Amino acid sequence: MALEGSAGASDRSRLLVATRSTHKLRELRELLGLRAELIDLDDIGITDEAIEDGETFEANASKKARFFAALSGLPTLADDSGLEVDALGGAPGVRTRRYAGEIATDEENNVKLLGALSGLPAPQRGARYRCALALALPESRGTRGGIPVSLAQGTLEGRIAVAPKGDGGFGYDPIFEPAGEPAGGRTLGQWTAEAKNRISHRGKAARRMHRILTDLGF
Ligand code: IMP
Repeated sequence: MALEGSAGASDRSRLLVATRSTHKLRELRELLGLRAELIDLDDIGITDEAIEDGETFEANASKKARFFAALSGLPTLADDSGLEVDALGGAPGVRTRRYAGEIATDEENNVKLLGALSGLPAPQRGARYRCALALALPESRGTRGGIPVSLAQGTLEGRIAVAPKGDGGFGYDPIFEPAGEPAGGRTLGQWTAEAKNRISHRGKAARRMHRILTDLGF
């Protein structure tokens, strides 16, 4: 692992985003609109992976943010998100990305979920997306070594459609009807990215995190 050097105390010019996804980095740049430069793990040559074995989105986001803040010495932002389905007791939850298997495609995940809810009427198809964003500031490390974390969360209520519709978005969007839509209405796969950002779990969490970051001088 090669690091390009650590930030000095309270350096607010750069914020590390704990991702290798250019899609996620671009999305967070747009949603947060900060003065600070957002960089990702590849930009500073970090090849290590954090272990995401938390029971909640908040625990996983915090774990990731602390892990990469400790490695890089930089203020670090991490996210974790997923889907909770009422009829499945809140599953797949933190296993959302791997619902149909460790390397499952979005389509395989969608097919498995539609099968699990097969025959259920609309009122029993309730679900929500959740997103947790965690900010770790290594310069504020406590005397016992713990790096403090600030959390922001967002939720988007909706229901699981009976069949996929639309090819926008990603993940479960083709089978997710946001709460404002009637049963059988448009899925998020049929919404524009701008409209989705205004109501999405990630958009809400990002707007809350934006306040935390600007208060800190980013
Ligand atoms: P992770 O946050 O990278 O662990 O993955 C979360 C998973 O939740 C994604 O791979 C998607 O399957 C799903 N997910 C999270 N947010 C969204 C969204 O906005 N639309 C569709 N699927 C999502």
